[in-house]
Amino acid sequence: MKVPFLDLKKSYLEIESKVEEKILSSVKSGRYIGGEEVEQFENKFSKFCRSNYCVSTGNGLDALFLGLKSLEIGKGDEVIVSSHTFIASWLAIFRTGAKIVPIDSEYDSFNIDVEKIENKITKKTKAIMPVHMYGQPCEMRKIKKIAKQNNLKIIEDAAQAHGASYRGNPVGSIGDLTAWSFYPAKNLGAFGDAGAITTNSKRLYRKIKSLSSYGSLKKYENEIPGFNSRMDPLQASVLSLKIKNLKSENLKRKKIAEIYLNELDNSKFILPVSNDSSEHAWHLFCVRHKKRNKILDYLKSKSIESIIHYPIPPHLQKAFEGLNFKKNSFPVTENISKTVFSLPLNPNLTMDQVHYVVKNLNSSL
Ligand SMILES: *Cc1c(COP(=O)(O)O)cnc(C)c1O
Repeated sequence: MKVPFLDLKKSYLEIESKVEEKILSSVKSGRYIGGEEVEQFENKFSKFCRSNYCVSTGNGLDALFLGLKSLEIGKGDEVIVSSHTFIASWLAIFRTGAKIVPIDSEYDSFNIDVEKIENKITKKTKAIMPVHMYGQPCEMRKIKKIAKQNNLKIIEDAAQAHGASYRGNPVGSIGDLTAWSFYPAKNLGAFGDAGAITTNSKRLYRKIKSLSSYGSLKKYENEIPGFNSRMDPLQASVLSLKIKNLKSENLKRKKIAEIYLNELDNSKFILPVSNDSSEHAWHLFCVRHKKRNKILDYLKSKSIESIIHYPIPPHLQKAFEGLNFKKNSFPVTENISKTVFSLPLNPNLTMDQVHYVVKNLNSSL
């Protein structure tokens, strides 16, 4: 039996006729930037997150970057961020010129270790960027408390957390700003690059909208030097269709995650721990083991595709050599990157495939 990590073509075929109709009507409309399709998706997505506003962007990295810019973060400022994350979280901060201040992860949740945040706050700290890794929300209650006490803004990286919620509040309506990616492999994915920011602040909404479109809210009147980062109507029309299935797809993810949690041998592997106070979006199901490479080879021999998220943490990437982080500066994150591997988990898997993964992983080694 073959178990691909992800099968985006299969997802497409399930909605083929509807999606083709949508794409055709979008192309035939003669409107290729902005317009009704984009507004409709922004409205749908902000409703989905129970936040007041949504601005769509060209991708998730831009959403994070424009969010930071709207908070007027730049050179001389410091931003606190998870050390265990996809590199885009760090790149967004780097692009503003602000200093990246990483915090090590919590062993169980893979998320930012909130107990370590306060030590790193200085007069220059402007914001905290929690990343909801693999779909599980960070400890937002504590993060909000710290932010309030120190007058910091919160910009969440929710690129892996579509549909997750924390203490009953959907991700997207918790911090000052929440950045999203609709990269095809995410829980809600477009047919290309796309992203968004959600917020409850009208002021930040207007600012990000302006920043994403040349610093202009009114054509040919530019109030600030802005950028060009917009979602095209084609992607918006696809996302408007796909968002209808997001809840039920997340439920399927949850069901698969529960099978893995119940049936994988937890005396052998370190299984992910999900927090009682939150609803996990199960973007990824990450297992840890010291002999990861052996296990991956075995799974491969059984035609089970597994991927590592992520093998090199941002602070040890060549791209950030100039920041001079040493090995062992974030031991938990480094331990995760050496031991973690992600099992296939997506709404297209059959129960036979899920049980095949369980059986083979349990008998590996
Ligand atoms: C995917 C991802 C991003 C970046 O999104 P793009 O749309 O690919 O730019 C940012 N942060 C995290 C945690 C991600 O997983």
